[in-house]
Amino acid sequence: MITADPKWMWASVIFLFGLVAGSFLNVCIYRIPRKRSIILPASFCPHCDAPIHPLDNIPLLSYLVLGGKCRQCKGPISLRYPLVECMTGFLFALLYLRFGASPSLLVYAVFVAALVVVTFIDLEHRIIPDVISLPGIPAGFALSFLLPRVNWVSSLLGILLGSGLLLAVALGYEWLTRKEGMGMGDVKLLGMMGGVLGWEGVLFTIFVSSVVGAVVGVVAMMAARADTKYAIPYGPFLSAGGLIYLFSGPQIIHWYLGG
Ligand SMILES: [Zn+2]
Repeated sequence: MITADPKWMWASVIFLFGLVAGSFLNVCIYRIPRKRSIILPASFCPHCDAPIHPLDNIPLLSYLVLGGKCRQCKGPISLRYPLVECMTGFLFALLYLRFGASPSLLVYAVFVAALVVVTFIDLEHRIIPDVISLPGIPAGFALSFLLPRVNWVSSLLGILLGSGLLLAVALGYEWLTRKEGMGMGDVKLLGMMGGVLGWEGVLFTIFVSSVVGAVVGVVAMMAARADTKYAIPYGPFLSAGGLIYLFSGPQIIHWYLGG
């Protein structure tokens, strides 16, 4: 579909760029929890270790052409690869449509990329790597100076409130049940998110992610029968809450307060 509005042309270009970025995020998702370099070696098949030809490494397209199988050993390629590529493409294009060509677009693109990586690592390994969340805290604070939506006070309060509230919940839960419930990974993640979203974003994210997390948790527990101890990772819910805030949080808060 061709339209005269250059906005859509740029959104499409940024979508394609997001596919390529998503392809790199897939490498991060696979290698960071395995403590391997995200730069070298070039992509290889996790089943047969065969290097992947650049033509078989085109985002989305190669997955479709190869039918989701490695060309050498026919081992299955995880659906995560095209999923992460598409998600990143759509999120980047949405960021452009929401924030235009601005410093916010760049900062939020890095932020969204970090959340995508954290989400898929947490789903697969039940960890949130410090290598993303810890440097993400000062980076989020520094980058907040480029964001018109938050000032540095809100950013700093966001870091303190995000990590502080979750730390209190985690310690309280542990004290009450003598079990470790929430991981320290979530504490550091919300600290990082608070630096970029500000304190209002932290409160919004905690609220939305706990409501959605509770609903999903109850459904998952019923599906897995009550006696099974079924811990669900909280990182993906925090990320989803943060994304909802990024795109429409201020509007939702305004609507809620305005009645
Ligand atoms: Zn293979």
